[in-house]
Amino acid sequence: MTDEAEVQATPGTSEGGGADVRTQVLVLGGGPGGYTAAFRAADLGLQVTLVERGETLGGVCLNVGCIPSKALLHAAEVLTAAREAEALGITFGPPRVDLGALRAWKDGVVGKLTGGLAQLARQRKVRVLRGEGRFQSAHQVRVDGPEGPRTVTFEHAVIGVGSEPVRLPGFPEGDPRVIDSTGALALPDVPGSLLVVGGGVIGLEMATLYAALGSRVTVVELTGQLLPGWDGDLVRPLQRRLAKRLAGIHVGTRVLGVEARDEGLAVTFEGPKAPPPTVFDRVLVAVGRRPAGAQIGAESAGVFVDPKGFVPVDREQRTNVGHIFAIGDVAGQPMLAHKATHEGKVAAEVIAGRPVTLEARDIPGVAYTDPEVAWVGLTETEAKARGIEVDRAAFPWAASGRALGMAREEGLTRLLFERGTGRLLGAGIVGPHAGDLIAETVLALRMGARAGDLAGAVHAHPTLSETVALAAEMAEGTITDLLPARRR
Ligand code: NAD
Repeated sequence: MTDEAEVQATPGTSEGGGADVRTQVLVLGGGPGGYTAAFRAADLGLQVTLVERGETLGGVCLNVGCIPSKALLHAAEVLTAAREAEALGITFGPPRVDLGALRAWKDGVVGKLTGGLAQLARQRKVRVLRGEGRFQSAHQVRVDGPEGPRTVTFEHAVIGVGSEPVRLPGFPEGDPRVIDSTGALALPDVPGSLLVVGGGVIGLEMATLYAALGSRVTVVELTGQLLPGWDGDLVRPLQRRLAKRLAGIHVGTRVLGVEARDEGLAVTFEGPKAPPPTVFDRVLVAVGRRPAGAQIGAESAGVFVDPKGFVPVDREQRTNVGHIFAIGDVAGQPMLAHKATHEGKVAAEVIAGRPVTLEARDIPGVAYTDPEVAWVGLTETEAKARGIEVDRAAFPWAASGRALGMAREEGLTRLLFERGTGRLLGAGIVGPHAGDLIAETVLALRMGARAGDLAGAVHAHPTLSETVALAAEMAEGTITDLLPARRR
């Protein structure tokens, strides 16, 4: 194995030859889960081979997901802030967006991160093989890449192959005007009109981006609410602001048919509040993602894949085959990069013989919309469904000097405490920077904090972070910035 550890490759570079490989740990998929598992395993002294079919490491998140979307959403924020500055007595001329420069900037951000990963892999002596991997047996994977086929024989494997967008039947196949999130982030142009099918996280983030760039955006959502599953009080401020910016938001609506015409995509809808048939320049389909478990020949290794394509795992991330692990989107919901990285670390540490299990049960969710919506732990909907008695405490940002000074008083910070003990069970925040503000409550949940701990921790004034302490003061009845709710 000595010479193998010395031969290093970056995806996209030639490793030369087509020799078969032996490795202690094979990681299939170089996304946030996969590269984390590979790097942690290498740091724990294991010899690691990471197989990735893409040209760069980083998976969907770095290349065509979290990172480019946030770079572009930052541009959207700048555009929106400039337009809204009028209310503060500042007027700019209409913005001119150089799309080529914006794309290049976004690609530069992605390039810095993926380049950094390739370097980190080299520094750790993780062998990176470019190609598509499929299990041949419980100890072998065949990798088909630019260098021709290779067989990797492994002691342990970690499956981190992620997920792919769900496609809807009946949409014109191969029409470049029907796009998914990858197509939207490529930013080929700014369509005059855009239909977003699916009012989930991707749909609303892309609606926010394209509306800021000047498209007339319509969103249709199958269920009765945007961001289904998230608490209504957190979604409402977002929906109100979106309603001012978008051409239409139609919940309880589904697309009946899409016809490709020269002048655009003619779409018909169904539902109690369905819009009339309309022609759009482009249609973005964002109706969820499907795990990629069925595409890797898992059956040849004896690994169970459920009918949806998930690979079930235990708390050590082991599949039904003890030496094969699964992490990230393919291992179950929620399909979030930060869940994948935690699972990747657990898998690597278990393989290295450490007695760890996945502890992080409270995984925050963030919609990077405008305003952002963030939540962690128990939701109010869940509490009701499960008959858990909670005390709800909310601080409206209309009473926050900082939010008022930012002309963003629509926000809300809302905490749920266990009745009787005052222990924090869940938190939800809507407003600018909610995705960052939620972090304090993530730690509070993990530490078993009570309302008094949050209220008693001195927060800087004036900040948005104060709203967490002020919501806790609402629960404690010690609030002075508002009238305290009558104590139970
Ligand atoms: P999603 O599940 O969040 O939302 C899909 C939406 O489409 C749902 O609201 C659903 O009700 C709706 N829908 C389904 N079928 C429909 C139909 N026929 N017509 C109209 N609406 C329909 O999925 P997504 O937004 O595609 O995101 C995919 C995954 O990626 C999710 O698991 C998400 O958590 C993850 N993701 C997360 C972030 C983030 O955390 N910021 C960003 C992007 C993606």
